[in-house]
Amino acid sequence: MHTKTLTELKAGLANGDFSSRELTEHFLARIKQFDGELNSFVTVTEQQALAQADAADQAIAAGQTGLLTGLPIAHKDIFCTEGVRTSCGSKMLDSFIAPYTATVVNKMASEGAVMLGKTNMDEFAMGSSNETSYYGPVKNPWDLERVPGGSSGGAAACLGARLAPAATGTDTGGSIRQPAALNNITGLKPTYGRVSRWGMIAFASSLDQAGPMGQSAEDCALMLQAMAGHDHRDSTSLNQKVDDYLGALKEDISGLTIGIPEEFFPDTLDGAIADNSRAAIRELEKLGAKVVSVSLPSIKLSVPAYYVIAPAEASSNLSRFDGVRFGHRCDDPKDLEDLYKRSRSEGFGDEVKRRILVGTYALSAGYYDAYYRRAQQVRRLIRDDFARAFEKVDVLMGPTAPETAFKLGAKKDDPVSMYMADVFTIGVNLAGLPALSMPTGFINGLPTGTQVIGNYFREGQILNVAHKYQQVTDWHRQLPTFGGEQ
Ligand code: GLN
Repeated sequence: MHTKTLTELKAGLANGDFSSRELTEHFLARIKQFDGELNSFVTVTEQQALAQADAADQAIAAGQTGLLTGLPIAHKDIFCTEGVRTSCGSKMLDSFIAPYTATVVNKMASEGAVMLGKTNMDEFAMGSSNETSYYGPVKNPWDLERVPGGSSGGAAACLGARLAPAATGTDTGGSIRQPAALNNITGLKPTYGRVSRWGMIAFASSLDQAGPMGQSAEDCALMLQAMAGHDHRDSTSLNQKVDDYLGALKEDISGLTIGIPEEFFPDTLDGAIADNSRAAIRELEKLGAKVVSVSLPSIKLSVPAYYVIAPAEASSNLSRFDGVRFGHRCDDPKDLEDLYKRSRSEGFGDEVKRRILVGTYALSAGYYDAYYRRAQQVRRLIRDDFARAFEKVDVLMGPTAPETAFKLGAKKDDPVSMYMADVFTIGVNLAGLPALSMPTGFINGLPTGTQVIGNYFREGQILNVAHKYQQVTDWHRQLPTFGGEQ
């Protein structure tokens, strides 16, 4: 059952080939068998999953099904889930049982989804390798000595090894797309505001966006259909009609114009990475797409601008973890100041502390104009570059990540080289655009991904481009030896 896509599993349930209970038990057994080594889950909610599966089987028998009825899904541990630990990969929230459920999780549950558990992640979603998690690193199922990418590394790895048929992730600077590329799965970051952020623990509020991670573009379309929509509890969620994403997959792509930003193929890029993405673009040309070259001159400033804006917003968002209201509290504080200091020192890991320091500095009086305001101006230039490109083209394409999965520990002491893992993804977040990563072949047995970026609210179009590609290729069907093929 685990070699089937979510869409195929949905059909299997509808045909009565298996029950949701059988399906759920199958994935729970796989998690038990393989996750000791992979470490992709922080919490497995077995009892709850089985109860939801039984309810789904009753709903199916009664003919009352939603979009996701009976389908097991893993949620990133950044989404609050009532009654279940929500750790955000941090010691700070190790004992936090959320008193309410995030809108994304609620919406999927109301469409009948079964929650398998909560996936491991970089602490507070800060990282590109899943090594900053308090619960230890996640391993890449394609090579257990390598990282799965981050911050949604647990989601990508459990999906890559088919310990879950689908998962949710979040993407602030690349955290859905980069791990999707490194694990041979498809992941979509929607337009900023398309999916509610309510109940999703905030990292950088003007950039964070939740999205689907699946085996195919079709699976992502199915999940996005359930996730998207306005939420009156999130003032940044947009009150715009939700498109028919599955319907969009039926549209013809002949005549589609693909822009290739020259900045996504710099001379310094690994030739094999460039070749895989160029081959994917050629495949779409064969299907009738036109290809033109474009330029995004300011995109080179996206990583530096992001590493001012994201830490600035993080320093403000993370001030709530003070040892008083919720989260870790130190033992025997001498006074209030000691309580704050020690609770935060003990509760946060090094990368989170680094971001809080950088962000607090960038926002402090005297430096605000030099850093934060400047970075926001650069952000506008990047947005304008994309807007100019989209006057001429329908979508933009290039590699998702500059390299395949690297060895565990390889970049641990070099934060700047770690930050460069998102060099091709971060600009999209700064502009608020939708983008996905799809599997486009291997280098030395390790997966690579290609990014498809669309204009605002064109999720249907980019999913369709990936779907058309996946109908004529089978990269997305390849499984790792670990887990997948057994
Ligand atoms: N790797 C980037 C960072 O560390 C992006 C993370 C994310 O998208 N959550 O901030």
